[in-house]
Amino acid sequence: LVILLDSKAQQTELEWISYPPNGWEEISGLDENYTPIRTYQVCQVMEPNQNNWLRTNWIEKGNAQRIFVELKFTLRDCNSLPGVVGTCKETFNLYYQETDSEVGRSLRENQYVKIDTIAADESFTQGDLGERKMKLNTEVRIIGPLSRRGFYLAFQDVGACIALVSVKVYYKKCWSIIENLATFPDTVTGSEFSSLVEVEGACVSDAEEEADNSPKMHCSAEGEWLVPIGKCICKAGFHQKGDACEPCGRGFYKSSSQDLQCSRCPAHSFNDREGSWRCDCDDGYYRALSDPPSVACTSESACSNLVYNINQTTVGLEWNPPADTGGRNDVTYRVICRRCSWEPEECVPCGPNVGYSPAQSGLVDTYLSVVDLLAHANYTFEVEAVNGVSDLSRTQRLFAAPSQVSEVIKEKVQQRSIQLSWQEPQQPNGVITEYEIKYYEKDQKDRVYSTVRSKSTSATVNNLKPSTAYVFQIRAFTEAGYGTFGPRLEITTQEEATAAIVSSEQNPVIIIAVVAVAGTIILVFMVFGFIIGRRYALAGPIGLSAPVSLLKFPGTKTYIDPETYEDPNRAVHQFAKELDASCIKIERVIGAGEFGEVCSGRLKLPGKRDMSVAIKTLKVGYTEKQRRDFLCEASVMGQFDHPNVVHLEGVVTRGKPVMIVIEYMENGSLDGFLRKHDGQFTVIQLVGMLRGIAAGMRYLSDMGYVHRDLAARNILVNSNLVCKVSDFGLSRVIDDDPEAVYTTTGGKIPVRWTAPEAIQYRKFTSASDVWSYGVVMWEVMSYGERPYWDMSNQDVIKAIEEGYRLPAPMDCPPGLHQLMLDCWQKDRAERPKFDQIVSILDKMIRNPNTLKTPVGTCTRPISPLLDQSTPDFTAFRSVGEWLEAIKMERYRDNFTAAGYGSLESVARMSIEDVMSLGITLVGHQKKIMSSIQTMRAQMLHLHGTGVQV
Ligand code: AMP
Repeated sequence: LVILLDSKAQQTELEWISYPPNGWEEISGLDENYTPIRTYQVCQVMEPNQNNWLRTNWIEKGNAQRIFVELKFTLRDCNSLPGVVGTCKETFNLYYQETDSEVGRSLRENQYVKIDTIAADESFTQGDLGERKMKLNTEVRIIGPLSRRGFYLAFQDVGACIALVSVKVYYKKCWSIIENLATFPDTVTGSEFSSLVEVEGACVSDAEEEADNSPKMHCSAEGEWLVPIGKCICKAGFHQKGDACEPCGRGFYKSSSQDLQCSRCPAHSFNDREGSWRCDCDDGYYRALSDPPSVACTSESACSNLVYNINQTTVGLEWNPPADTGGRNDVTYRVICRRCSWEPEECVPCGPNVGYSPAQSGLVDTYLSVVDLLAHANYTFEVEAVNGVSDLSRTQRLFAAPSQVSEVIKEKVQQRSIQLSWQEPQQPNGVITEYEIKYYEKDQKDRVYSTVRSKSTSATVNNLKPSTAYVFQIRAFTEAGYGTFGPRLEITTQEEATAAIVSSEQNPVIIIAVVAVAGTIILVFMVFGFIIGRRYALAGPIGLSAPVSLLKFPGTKTYIDPETYEDPNRAVHQFAKELDASCIKIERVIGAGEFGEVCSGRLKLPGKRDMSVAIKTLKVGYTEKQRRDFLCEASVMGQFDHPNVVHLEGVVTRGKPVMIVIEYMENGSLDGFLRKHDGQFTVIQLVGMLRGIAAGMRYLSDMGYVHRDLAARNILVNSNLVCKVSDFGLSRVIDDDPEAVYTTTGGKIPVRWTAPEAIQYRKFTSASDVWSYGVVMWEVMSYGERPYWDMSNQDVIKAIEEGYRLPAPMDCPPGLHQLMLDCWQKDRAERPKFDQIVSILDKMIRNPNTLKTPVGTCTRPISPLLDQSTPDFTAFRSVGEWLEAIKMERYRDNFTAAGYGSLESVARMSIEDVMSLGITLVGHQKKIMSSIQTMRAQMLHLHGTGVQV
C-alpha cells in the first residue's frame, strides 16, 4: 500500500474546510488505544434540513489511478437519542473532486462526484453489563479511474450524529521483484478492478532475454504479480545463482546462454579468468576454429620418416603414421603438392595436371604415387594426417573423443520420470568418466534443453510432465572431451493418473484413505471372485469374467452419496466439521439462496487466522426435509478438496440459524462476473479460467461425482480470478435452478446446458457433464451470453437433435470452438474426458500462438444458428442501433463526436480509426472491429459492390 493521507498519523490540526461553520467540528480525542487523534464530529440531529460539508486538504495522487478510501467512524443510533424522530439520520455521503492543483478554500457542492452513501454496520453493540457502547465502523470505498493530478474528498452530513475517527487514503502497488532473472519495477495497479497491467521485465546484469520469449508479468488490481511469461537466461560465461548471474569460476566455462551450468575446461585447456565462454588450449595443444568449446585440445604429432623415390616424372612417397593417434582410428592422409621456383623460393599449387595414385586425400594407407610431374622442376610434398573431425590443421591433429552412444533402452516409463540405460560406445577412445543425457519436450516451440549427468550407463530423468513426448540424446565424456550425441530417442511419459495421485501429493491423509479404499476393494474382489467362481464353476470360465468386469477399481477417493446414509445428520458430521457459532461473524447479506439468505462474514477458528467466508443460512420455520436438503450440499461439498472446487469450512447444526460456511468467493458467480467485465480479459485469462473449471471437473469425475448442473452460474470466482465449481447436492437440487424446466421424461432439467441423452432418458454421466462444460466454454468466451439466445427450450432440443451446434463466439480462437464442438458430440463416448480437456487447454496456454485469432476470422458453421449470433447489419438504421445490438452503446458519443454518423462511414473504419475514438479496451476494440468487418461483408453482399477501404 502507498498511503496518501492518514489523518491518524497527523499530530497537528488537520484544518480541513467545514461549511457551514456550525456543522463539522475538529476535535482532539483519543483512539481505542488512547493515542491522541484528530477527529471531525457533527451531531445536528434536532434541526431539520441539515447540509454540512467537510472537505479534506488536496491529495496529490502520484501516478495512481485507483484509490482506496478507508473510513473509521462511529454513528449514533437515532433510537438512542430521544426526541429526534423525523430529523435524525443514520448515514452520511462521501464525495470527491478531481483537480490538477489546489483550488482554494471555497466549497461548491456541484463540483463533487458522489462516491457512496455510508451507513454503519451497527450503530451500537450491547456491552457486558447491558449498556450500549458505540461501535467503530470501518468502510472502504474505491475511486477511479482518476486522471487529474489530485483530488479532494468531501463528507456531507444531512443530520446524523457522526464522529469521523480516521480517514486513510491509499493506492496499491506491485512492488519491484526479480522473477526468472528479470527485474520488474514498482508498478501502480490499473484503474479498474479487473485490469492487469502488463509489465516488461529487464534482465538482471549478465543475463539476456531468451529468444522470442521476453519476460513479462502482470500487476493485478490487488497489487499482486500474476502470470509470469518469458524469461531471461544467464549470458555465456555466467550461470544462475539465485536471482543473479554469476561468472563461471576459473577453470570453468559456459559457451552459450542456453547452457544451464558452467562446465570444467575440457582436457588440455585452461582459463584463468572468471566469466569465460571458452577455455584456451594449453601450450602445444590445439583446437580447430570450427570446434565447439566443449572439445578437448590435442597436441601436434607429426607423421615421421617421409621417404620418396623418383622414377622419371613419378614420385613415390611413403611415411610412418604419427606417434600419437590418440587412439582414434579414423586418421587418413592427404598430400599437398607444390611446385617451387629455384631462387627465391616461391611455391604454387601443382594444379590439376598432376595425378595421384590411389588418391590425393582420404588415404588410409601410408603411401602414394604422384604422376605426370614436370621434368627438371622443384617440387615440395607435405603429408598431413587428418581426422574425421577436423582437417583444418596443417599439422597432424588427432582427436580421441568417444564415439556415439547409440544403443539406448527405455527401462521404465512413468508419469513424471523415465529410466534409461545404454551400452558403452563402440569406440570409447579412453576412459569414459561421465555421460550426459540431454532432453527436451518434443512439442515445445522454443526448445529448452535440460541435461542430466550419470557416471554409469543408466540414469533416471525426473520432474517430467505426464503424457508428454520428450526427446533424449546421450553422449559420453572422456578426458578428451565429449563425443557426439547419439540418435534421438522419443519417449512419451505415462498419462497422469487419477486424482488419487494428484491429491495425495497435496494431502498425505488421502494416501491413507486411498490405500484403505483400495485395500477394501481388493478384499471385496477376492471374496466376490471366489463366490462367483464357485457358483459359475459348472458354467465354464466366462462365469468369472462378468462380475469381475463390473468391479471398478477406483484408484481414487470415491464420492459417497449422502442419501445412502439412513441418518442424514450422520452424513453431515462424517464429512463436515461442526463449527462453534461464536467463531462466525456475519457481516452483510450478499445473495438469496434457495433455503435462506447468503451472507458474507468472517470465520476465526482458534489458533488460525481469521478468514472471509460465505455463510448460507437456513431460514427460520424450516421443515425437517428442508433442513436435510439444505445440509445435503455440505455433505457433498465436504467430501471434496481441490483448488478448483469450492471449499467447505464447516457447518453449524447445533445452533440457530443452521449455517453452511464456505470459503468466500469475492467475485460471485462467473456468468454475472463476465457480463460485468464484458470484453475486458485476454484470451489467455479466459482460457485460464476454463482450465481451472476443467481441473475441478476432472477431480469431481475422478471421484465418481456427476454434477448434472454445470453452468457458468454455478461457478464462483474469487479475487484472484480463480474459478471454482460449486452448487452441489443431490439431483433434486437442480430443481432449484431457475434455468431448470420440466421435461417430458420427468424431473427438471437445465435444457440449454444438458446433453441430449440426459434430457431424453436421464442418462447423467461425466460425459454429460462434459457436454455442459462445452456450454460453459461458450458462455465464458462470449462473456456470459445466454446459450442459444432467446430460442425456446423446445427449439433448442430440436436444433441439437438436428445436428446444429452453437457457433464460435466473437473472437473465439478456432481451437477452442473445436473443443466445444468435441464436447457436443452426439455419441457421448466420442466426447473428450476432462483430463484430456485439461491437457488440451494446458497446451494452448503454453503455446499462446495457438490462441491467436485474426480479427473477424472466426469460422462459424453455416447453420440457422448463425443468424442468431450475427445480427443482420443491413437492417440497422443508425449507428446507435448497431452499437446497441453489439452491446457497445457506451461508445455512442465517441462515434458521434468523431463524425461517424452513418453505418456506411462506420463500415469503412479501420482498427486505427476505432482506436482513435478513445476506445482503449482491447476486447471492445476487437468486438467492434469484428462487427464492422461482418457489416462490410453483408453490405458487399447486399449491394454487390465493394466498400472501398
Ligand atoms: P446459491 O444458493 O449457492 O446459488 O448462492 C446464492 C448466491 O450467493 C450465488 O449466486 C452467489 O452470488 C452467492 N454465493 C454463494 N456462495 C458464495 C461464496 N462461497 N462466495 C461468494 N458468494 C457466494
